[in-house]
Amino acid sequence: MSGTLEPKVYGWCPGALRPMMSGDGLVVRVRAPLGKLTVNQARGVARLSQDFGNGLLDISARASLQMRGLREDRYEALIEGLRDLGLLDPDAQAEARRNVLLAPFWQDGDDSHAIATDLSAALTAATGLSLPGKFGFAVDCGEAPVLQDTAADIRIERAGGTLNLRADGAETGKPVTRESAVAEALALARWFLQQGGAPEGRGRMHRLIARRGPPTAHAAPMANARFTAKPGAVPAGTLAAMEFGQMPAATLARLADHGALRLTPWRMLLVEGAASLPPLPGLILDAADPRLQVVACTGAPGCLQALSSTRALARQLAPHVPAGTKLHISGCAKGCACPGTAPLTLTATGQDEFSLIRRGTAADQPVKTRLSAAALRAAPELLKEGS
Ligand code: SF4
Repeated sequence: MSGTLEPKVYGWCPGALRPMMSGDGLVVRVRAPLGKLTVNQARGVARLSQDFGNGLLDISARASLQMRGLREDRYEALIEGLRDLGLLDPDAQAEARRNVLLAPFWQDGDDSHAIATDLSAALTAATGLSLPGKFGFAVDCGEAPVLQDTAADIRIERAGGTLNLRADGAETGKPVTRESAVAEALALARWFLQQGGAPEGRGRMHRLIARRGPPTAHAAPMANARFTAKPGAVPAGTLAAMEFGQMPAATLARLADHGALRLTPWRMLLVEGAASLPPLPGLILDAADPRLQVVACTGAPGCLQALSSTRALARQLAPHVPAGTKLHISGCAKGCACPGTAPLTLTATGQDEFSLIRRGTAADQPVKTRLSAAALRAAPELLKEGS
């Protein structure tokens, strides 16, 4: 088979051409061009997941569609299927480089759409640009930014009516135009490498900026814009959340009956042009659904590193999570589903055994240890402040 198989993540994310071995088979991530699946592509991906995988699809925090449970001996056939759908890059390096997240509310031909199209093409064609595996770009040029809480290393966003280029972690940026944005973004990526941002091939922009600050030309003040996505109607269509970021492939195919799909980094899909959607397995359509307050990683048995299952407990605890807060349930201290801090985190330390961390990451010091899943279910008030 082509591609590289690795049992664990070490600073890179799986792609279609670089699959990763997990507890339930190969994991493949499809980075749809501009984060969009046409109706035909969505139906095709659903069919491939059912034919070659376990029929479940995840959406990643960078808006990639993840297929799981794939058998190694069917990998080549899967790749052929993805190629026929127009969802493959020329090679694994180009696939990794074309890490462009486009704000999902774009309209045909607007700044976001035009810049992301050109940036994707430039990154695919770039030579001598060996960026770290997780290094990514956010194109977020709507009226107000919506991706500032989403991980990215180089951002193109609007502030006070002007387009700006910003190195992640910097409070200032550099004004750019629609025409200059792509060249400036690539120049900033090269600056990152020249400044030693990626020793041994790993590193993130915000760490470099914390050490030496942004380039001197980046002096324009930038605004902070917080955005919280909710399921429901938006100008471009309807947003549907996926329970813990996963849905059956059949649901993806059914959604495609209502329009083309845009992948978002919020564990939601935007169905273009749809005024409403029917209830479907794995979807959350009510903005008040308590499951939206919980994030849970794959856990056992799907992940080789998981010490416990996570999602059954997440479902059971969701109604008990205090209003306005967030619970992160992690199968191990790696914290894949929520790399930053969360108000409440349960980190598995054994099968159905968890530590409770307040206002921290999955790896932080717990305030309680050895909590069994049964004890948490029986006394969910353990999650409340001060308990
Ligand atoms: S956090 Fe979850 S998905 Fe990530 S490695 Fe640990 S168990 Fe696996």
